[in-house]
Amino acid sequence: MDLVEYQGKQLFGRNGVPVPPPGVVCRTPDEVEAAAREIGGLTVIKAQVKMGGRGKAGGVKLAKSVEEAREHAESIFGLDIKGHVVNVIYVEDASDIAEEYYLSVLHDRVGKGYLVIASREGGMDIEKVNAETPDKVVKHPLLPSEVADGLSRDVALDIMTRADLPDAARAEAADLLVALFGAMLAEDATLVEINPLILTTDGHVIALDSKVTLDDNAAFRHDGYTEWDVEGIEPFDEQEAAAKEAGIQYVKLDGDVGILGNGAGLVMASLDVVAQAGGEAANFLDIGGGADADTMAASLQLVLSDERVNSVLVNVFGGITQCDLVAKGVLGALEQLGDVDRKLVVRLDGTNAEEGRRILDEAAHPNVAAAATMAEAAEQAVALAAERAGA
Ligand code: GDP
Ligand code: MN
Repeated sequence: MDLVEYQGKQLFGRNGVPVPPPGVVCRTPDEVEAAAREIGGLTVIKAQVKMGGRGKAGGVKLAKSVEEAREHAESIFGLDIKGHVVNVIYVEDASDIAEEYYLSVLHDRVGKGYLVIASREGGMDIEKVNAETPDKVVKHPLLPSEVADGLSRDVALDIMTRADLPDAARAEAADLLVALFGAMLAEDATLVEINPLILTTDGHVIALDSKVTLDDNAAFRHDGYTEWDVEGIEPFDEQEAAAKEAGIQYVKLDGDVGILGNGAGLVMASLDVVAQAGGEAANFLDIGGGADADTMAASLQLVLSDERVNSVLVNVFGGITQCDLVAKGVLGALEQLGDVDRKLVVRLDGTNAEEGRRILDEAAHPNVAAAATMAEAAEQAVALAAERAGA
């Protein structure tokens, strides 16, 4: 999961990464005005959305007065930043910037380790700097020996030297990187990015912005990351939130064929066969190992609560999961849900598949069609979706 800027700064702060003094999280222009008054002097009014490039989109503005802070708040609330509508603004004491740098640490899948990226050219599009002047971007894969006891200070300093940070910034930037790496481990982050990392006019290095991605697979170690749940941030997706609650893997996509399968690989394959059949999947949903009526009902309800869904493909390969139980689960789920107005195509294969298909045939539920193969099931589901879309 991604954090918004102010949350990332909180995470940095508690791990010893220097950040500006804590600001105020606001939801109305009145609150922004009050915050600017309390902080006093020059403030910065910042949209809190999980999307970069807020500055260019008009979502980050300096305010010299309380009145100006209010004006900025009025223009920033409701602003659409690449599809993310601003509901929350962070007001912070403005920092005096001497220079802007770039720094990030990420899980590098290719290198199978941590990668530090640092550049003297910060504050702008790092991809652009990397494309046009790659020699200005230092990429340092961390060796196991360099992180045996936290990130080595010498390595951090060497990275800052190679990134050509000026003498005035090098030592503090190295300390900051050591703390940043510690934060990454302590908080189970897969990405921490600071752009810009700044040298202030009074000679200190601090994180002026933050981007933090936490590892969802480590959520159990952090109380499910509930401390970072904030009302009003993100196009808060009810279905995805409900899925999280029910422990189901669910991701919304753009199409109208709902997908429900067991095992991430099979669900991915289902998306492909639907595409091959000329349709488009509405979601990714992995029911996991449990295919009992309750899990099936929760999953089906999720998929069907998406109004765009015109048909549903249930694709189950029985291994440990038994297809006869899946069939009963589907029927039980339909019973629990009552008036289901969309059709399901169910493909069962593997353990007890014949028995499962027999159960479905016998029930002859008006909303359920059984299919023998995945391709056949996808074709039927796509045809049913097109039919309902056209109706
Ligand atoms: P982003 O556009 O979403 O990456 O948002 P940032 O937090 O990085 O802010 C964009 C730009 O606004 C920065 O690169 C700075 O130039 C400027 N900015 C942000 N905060 C301050 C501040 O406290 N003081 C000053 N002078 N400029 C700031
Ligand atoms: Mn930034």
